Amino acid sequence: MKHETGYDVIVCGGGTSGVAAAIASARTGAKTLLIERLGTLGGQMNVSGPPGFSYAWLFNQRGEQIIAGIVEETHKRLLEMGYALPHNHSEYREGSGFTFSYVDPDWWGLLIFNMMDENNVDLLLHAMVVDVLKEGDKVTGVVVETVGGKLELKAKVVIDCTGEGYVAVQAGAPTDMVPKEELQPHTLAFTCDGVDWDELLAYVRAHPEEFVYPNVPGRSAEETCEILRRVEDVWELGEIRGFASILEKVMETKEWHGMSGLGFFLMPKGDPKNRRILAHLQHSSHVPGRSPYDPWDLTYCERETRRQIQIAFKVFKKYMPGFKNAYITRVCPELRIREGRRIVGDYILTRQDVAEAKKFPDVIGKSGFPAGGHHIASTQTIATDSVWPKDRGSHDIPYRCLVPKEVENFLVAGKAIATDRDAYHRFLQQTMVTGQAAGVAAALCVKQNITPRELEKDLSELQKILQEQGAILYGTH
Ligand SMILES: Cc1cc2nc3c(=O)[nH]c(=O)nc-3n(C[C@H](O)[C@H](O)[C@H](O)COP(=O)(O)OP(=O)(O)OC[C@H]3O[C@@H](n4cnc5c(N)ncnc54)[C@H](O)[C@@H]3O)c2cc1C
Repeated sequence: MKHETGYDVIVCGGGTSGVAAAIASARTGAKTLLIERLGTLGGQMNVSGPPGFSYAWLFNQRGEQIIAGIVEETHKRLLEMGYALPHNHSEYREGSGFTFSYVDPDWWGLLIFNMMDENNVDLLLHAMVVDVLKEGDKVTGVVVETVGGKLELKAKVVIDCTGEGYVAVQAGAPTDMVPKEELQPHTLAFTCDGVDWDELLAYVRAHPEEFVYPNVPGRSAEETCEILRRVEDVWELGEIRGFASILEKVMETKEWHGMSGLGFFLMPKGDPKNRRILAHLQHSSHVPGRSPYDPWDLTYCERETRRQIQIAFKVFKKYMPGFKNAYITRVCPELRIREGRRIVGDYILTRQDVAEAKKFPDVIGKSGFPAGGHHIASTQTIATDSVWPKDRGSHDIPYRCLVPKEVENFLVAGKAIATDRDAYHRFLQQTMVTGQAAGVAAALCVKQNITPRELEKDLSELQKILQEQGAILYGTH
């Protein structure tokens, strides 16, 4: 069978940023190809995930919705199909900004394939991008390695959505990363069924002081405990992390590995009437000090995380209320990289920008996620040096963070966009916001016959189309 070898836009990597970029690019009229090294789409959402809180942070601490677009569209469709839960505004989470809008990740993965068909996105799966084609500093396509041999594919604009900036490096774009010894630890996630949620809830109600609370400005610890004492439905909680007395005990008996604390998230399964809830443990293995770009280090992590999750499951079954009859339903097939490279872009978003809830003329989306909340390999799980956007608001994400220096015809979306370490934009909702923007921008560049850097001069059309596609750019704190 003969296939196309020339495209307007090629998106490399079919994780959350990549699928959003491909859909947005095709909707803006570009002939678009999405290339993914695996046989499926979704990346950390549904392959090496899901994230414990998918989706989350679509609202700021004031309760204003700050993120919509393709994120909201997929949530709405899954809600209508019975495979998502409504945005969670429970009393416990309200005001935290750390709200949940749960989706069933497996149905999310199926829906995404439908959306590829609906939007006429061409797909090339089982294909690893191993190099770029270049003329001077202009990227003109990519080289992919497949079971059928090497392929060269041409494009007017290439978008790197590999999460780790692999293609950006191949293209010669400058990147930044902290030394591997300081990186946040890598994790392997797993899910459990068979949990007795009534027993678990009874424990939470009886020991509210044992839990790590969401940050709700103006609410005291005692007020939060009071809410926990009357919690009726496990969905009101979202994240359940702490279990201080159990942690103390298993540290004493040396039954716990000590690389993280105790806790888990929830995953919805099944139709709304007969819903099952899975416990999702994504903080129960932590491997620090290893490079995401060294296969020997990665192999070590794959082995070590599997050792740790067996320890974790044993402890959960023995001590965690409600987990006596729990069983594992999924061990994710591969490690999740929590921190890696970030490109050096035309603008580098900073911790200060997040703290000031800064607005930018080249806004392409927003985020209310705090800066600086790093995971650490200790029973604390997360270091607490984070700062929220001021006035419980949100900051803008500037388009220039998607445009790497020194390379033309090239954009980056997802985890690797240009930020300083603390403002790292690695969360699902952020990756889909930047993916959607990169997709529209790339298609516009093709239409206007300009480069992504030249587009910086006038972003009015990009911002108009993004809003037509449902993105929120203005009108919130
Ligand atoms: C342990 C952990 C917990 C997390 N928890 C949460 C959470 O609870 N909530 C939340 O919102 N976020 C969470 N995140 C963050 C979030 O899940 C990811 O950072 C986000 O999904 C990354 O999206 P992405 O599109 O940038 O990259 P990815 O989802 O990693 O997608 C990259 C894709 O590119 C493909 N690829 C890579 N290289 C190539 C190549 N050379 N050629 C072709 N394809 C390639 C990969 O196979 C993959 O499909 C968590 C992350 C980790 C690691």
